[in-house]
Order: sequence, then structure tokens, then C-alpha cells
Amino acid sequence: MAESFDVIVIGGGPAGYPAAIRAGQNKLSVACIDEWRNRDGSYAFGGTCLNAGCIPSKALLESSELYHRTREEFAVHGIKVSGVSVDVAQMQKRKAGIVKTSTQGILALFKGAGVTPLQGHGKLLPGRRVAFTGADGATRELSAKQVILASGSVPVELKSAAFQAPHIVDSQGALEFDSAPKRLGVIGAGVIGLELGSVWRRLGSEVTVLEALPEFLGIADQQLAKEAARHFKKQGLDIRLGAKVTGAKVVGDAVEVSYEDAKGSHSLTVDRLVVAVGRRPFTRDLLANGTGVELDERGFIKVDHQCRTGAEGVWAVGDCVRGPMLAHKGKEEGVMVADLIAGRYGEVNYKTIPSVIYTAPEIAWVGETEEQVKASGRAYKTGVFPFLASGRARAMEQAQGFAKVIAAQDDDEILGVHIVGPMAGELIAEAVLAMEYSASSEDLQRTIHAHPTLSEAVHEAALAADKRAIDSLNR
Ligand code: FAD
Ligand code: AMP
Repeated sequence: MAESFDVIVIGGGPAGYPAAIRAGQNKLSVACIDEWRNRDGSYAFGGTCLNAGCIPSKALLESSELYHRTREEFAVHGIKVSGVSVDVAQMQKRKAGIVKTSTQGILALFKGAGVTPLQGHGKLLPGRRVAFTGADGATRELSAKQVILASGSVPVELKSAAFQAPHIVDSQGALEFDSAPKRLGVIGAGVIGLELGSVWRRLGSEVTVLEALPEFLGIADQQLAKEAARHFKKQGLDIRLGAKVTGAKVVGDAVEVSYEDAKGSHSLTVDRLVVAVGRRPFTRDLLANGTGVELDERGFIKVDHQCRTGAEGVWAVGDCVRGPMLAHKGKEEGVMVADLIAGRYGEVNYKTIPSVIYTAPEIAWVGETEEQVKASGRAYKTGVFPFLASGRARAMEQAQGFAKVIAAQDDDEILGVHIVGPMAGELIAEAVLAMEYSASSEDLQRTIHAHPTLSEAVHEAALAADKRAIDSLNR
């Protein structure tokens, strides 16, 4: 008889592993199947996020930022340093250590929650049966009362710039360079392109980013995007907008990239090219015929607002379903589904999913952009507080950017909070909580913020929405 579980999760990334842990906490018998393999062939839970995404990118962003600040900022503080140099091999070693601790930590968490880890491939068969193929190539059949699909996503490949390692690489390849390429090309000025471009720029590469769209960071509030673009330019990131890549070929040890913009055709020679044009849902060999699970026209698994697929007892969460491709979005979906399965309450508030870009300055927002609010026709007010007016930011030598609060004119509801500046990714949490509780800008105004902290910027921006800011001219 097939080995059976209450719940089988296919995919152990940030959507799948939390689903498995919560199912275990809910006293359900649960197995989590994951096939991620490192370059050396070893298995690792954690998916893209832990192995080749969020965590390794943040490790390198931190190291490269420290190097940059040591060289450019220490003198201002009166700290004299000389002979500063970079050891990329050591940076990579540190990064690998952080990744390993994180992925092994999942096994410990599984043990604590009573989750059975199964490393290998999972394929959903009709009737909530799952074919599991382990490292030895042998396949055995499992069955479950409920199945959660969390198969994630993979980088989009461009026909015009097909991957050809080590010269033309995806984001994972760009996290693994063993030295800073002299000339680095990045296709796509999205979140991943900007973060990776920043890492290598700080470590010495001449970075050119080619972006097909005419507008910079069209997904963000445009006041924020303009401020960020100004800083990136100052840092030497050469971002060319309206530049559509039409071809890339490896010539010797370099890559010749061709692109078109309003002025015509151009070429650019770089030593390494990173293709960062987005990610697509990954469902290869995940679904046997007759499961009843459907994909939409873009390849995402079709689900309702609570992540149910069309098949009885089969759910899907994370990057393989609609919505922003973010680790925390997948995590909340996984937890919601595991709670719903256990008969508990579960919900994801898709209106309050924060977005963070870990550049310097950081960019973070939640809710609607000013452009979106304007288009909705709802009367609104905005308040902006520049970090230049923050004592803490000045003391940190990080007084760039601003916090912006958008609130409804009629009932003062907070509609969006947008921050570009130091620690924006941390500061946004307060705004997310406020919006989760349907707070008004007055609620933020009346909340005491410690002085001197960066969080005062959010407080003052809320006050500025009513022209009542104390520490800045109201704008
Ligand atoms: P994944 O993380 O892709 O995990 C899916 C897992 O399922 C994988 O391990 C895969 O091998 C496994 N799998 C798939 N099919 C099967 C099968 N049939 N059988 C067994 N196993 C299977 N997001 C953020 O929120 N913050 C960030 O700072 C951030 N930075 C990023 C930086 C980079 C460079 C990249 C590439 C991504 C970044 N992301 C970030 C996005 C984030 O990594 C994804 O949104 C997140 O990993 C999605 O989680 P998931 O569990 O849905 O999928
Ligand atoms: P994201 O989806 O946030 O990862 O961003 C990917 C970016 O790549 C988007 O802004 C796209 O407009 C951009 N992009 C996609 N195809 C091309 C191309 N051929 N040339 C330049 N930029 C591209």
C-alpha cells in the first residue's frame, strides 16, 4: 500500500517549507519533497530564496556595501584607512556559509515540527497520489489527503541572449562570479538587475543596465523611482532606458550585445552579461495527465483567492501562482493553506504585501503608488519627509531619500507608504502593520516614535500629509 500522509508539499522553498512546518504544528502528518541540488550535486531545502536568491544576494550586497563605505565614507567620519582591498573568494565563502546554515536550519525546523523531508522529485498523479523519485532514481508512490504544490519559478531566458556560462548568465550565475568583471552588462532594470548591478558596481565593475521600458521602475511610485535613479546615476550605474536587447554573442572572452532604442541600433561590449528580465513559473514534470490542476496562459497554476486549484484537495502557493514573486508572499500563502487544511482561519491580505529593493539607498513600499491612487479617482493627500532632516540619518551619514505617506482625503485611510533611504526595508514594516489595521495617517501621527531614529521619518511624513510636520518644511 502507498505510504500515506495527511499533507504532501511538493517544493521546499519559502512557500513550501513554511506550509509543511505549519501543517506539522497543526498536528498533521506531513512530507515535504524538494529536488533543489547545489552545483556539487548535494540536495538543499530552501528553494531559490535560500540557495540562489534573497539570502545570497543580501550577503553579497552587505559585503560590497561595507567595502564601498570603507573606501568612500570612513574618511568623513575621521577614520583613516589605507590598503583596503577586496577578496571576492572570501566574500563568496562567507556567502556560501550563510546559505548552508540557512538551508540546514530547515532540516532542523522540519525535525522540530515532525515534517518528513524527502529529497528528490515529486509528481502529482490523479487522486492525490504523488510519485516520488529519490536520489537513487527509484520511484515510489505516496498518497495524501491534501497536496500543496509549491514548485516556484525559474529565470526567464531571452532568445536574443541565450544563457552561455560563464559569459551570459542568469541571476544565480551573477551571484557566483569569482572576481568583479571589468565591464558588466545587465539586461533588465528590475529588482534583481538593480541589486546585482549594485553588488558588482561597488566591487569595481563598470556596469551598464539595459532596460526595454522607457520608464525607470514603473512598478514603483514615480517620485521614489526618480529619487532612486538620481542616486544610482551618482554611484556610476549606467542605466539606459528604452533600450531593448536584440542580440548577444560571445566573442573570445567578451560578449557583444546589440540593442535598439529611439535613436536606432547600438552595440555594447562587456566581459560578462547578466540576463535579469524576470522569472516564470516552474511546473516541468509536476503534473501527470488527469490531475484536474490547470495552468493559465502564462504557465501559472490556476488558483482561487485562497490558493485552491480546480482539483479537490490540491492547493498551490508561491511563485508558481499569480501575485508578486516574493518570498514573504509565498510564505504567507503556505501558512494560510496549512491552516485552512487544519480547519483553522487563514487569510492573505494581498493589499499589504511590502516590496523591498536592497540597493543603497534602499527602496521599499506598501500599498498604492501616487499614480495608482490618482488613476483610481479617490481624493488624496501626500506627506513627504526627507532624511536630510533626520538627525539619526545625518549621524549615520545616510541622509539620502525620503519617506512618503499617501492618505485618503475623506477618511484619512493610509493608501500607500513609499520610502527610499537608509533601512527602508525595515522601516516599511511599521507601515504594513498600520495598513493591516486599516490605520489612518492620524494614527501614525499620534504614535510615539523614539528619537533619534530613522522611523521618525515615517511619523513626520504622516504629519506632513496634514501640513503638521515639526522637523521639516511641509511638502
Ligand atoms: P522557490 O524558491 O523557487 O522554490 C521551489 C522549490 O521547489 C525549489 O527548491 C525547486 O527545486 C522545488 N521543486 C520544483 N518542482 C519540484 C518537483 N516537481 N519536485 C520536487 N521539488 C520541486 N524575494 C523576496 O521576497 N525578497 C528578496 O530579497 C528576493 N531576492 C531575490 C534575489 C534573487 C537573485 C532572486 C533570483 C530572487 C529573489 N527573490 C526575493 C524572489 C524569491 O526568491 C522567490 O519569490 C521565492 O523563492 C519563491 O518561493 P517559492 O517557494 O514559491 O519557490
Ligand atoms: P523584473 O520583472 O522586475 O525582474 O524586471 C525585468 C525587467 O527586464 C523588466 O523591466 C523588463 O522590461 C526588462 N526586459 C525584458 N526584456 C528585455 C530586453 N529584451 N531588453 C531589455 N530589457 C528587457
